[in-house]
Amino acid sequence: MESPLKHCIFCEIVAGHAPAERVYEDAATLAFMDIHPRAPGHVLVIPKRHAAMIYDLDEETMAQLGQALLRVARGLRAALAPEGLSVVQSNGRAAGQEVMHVHFHLIPRGVHGVPSGHSPQERATLAGQIRTAIAALRA
Ligand code: 5GP
Ligand code: ZN
Repeated sequence: MESPLKHCIFCEIVAGHAPAERVYEDAATLAFMDIHPRAPGHVLVIPKRHAAMIYDLDEETMAQLGQALLRVARGLRAALAPEGLSVVQSNGRAAGQEVMHVHFHLIPRGVHGVPSGHSPQERATLAGQIRTAIAALRA
């Protein structure tokens, strides 16, 4: 695990010191909109406790991430009715990892009739729809 003193933008988001459009959180995990979405509804799911790569996670945190991924995936399906959904997780620069805090990308594919999510306002609208769908599925 990297030093918590080292600057990490995702730790800043977890702490509420940097803004993010949150769609789901529990004791161990947080899900929020990707700031440069590859598709409408692109969400990142992260552990709240800093870990750089998948190797640095303990098994309990990985299990909690799996539960969060399932909840967010179902919320995305309910909110956006995508034709498909990619789950992507990269470790190390050679794999394309840019933010060195473990994260899973949930990228809906084939979404029609919703904003791209490239503007902050569009991301806020999408986040609201996704947040509401996740909460409704759990109610
Ligand atoms: P990676 O390439 O490391 O797998 O993906 C990092 C992702 O984090 C990218 O898709 C990028 O758009 C996203 N990202 C980077 N900085 C921020 C940020 O400050 N806020 C949010 N919401 N997403 C970010
Ligand atoms: Zn971090």
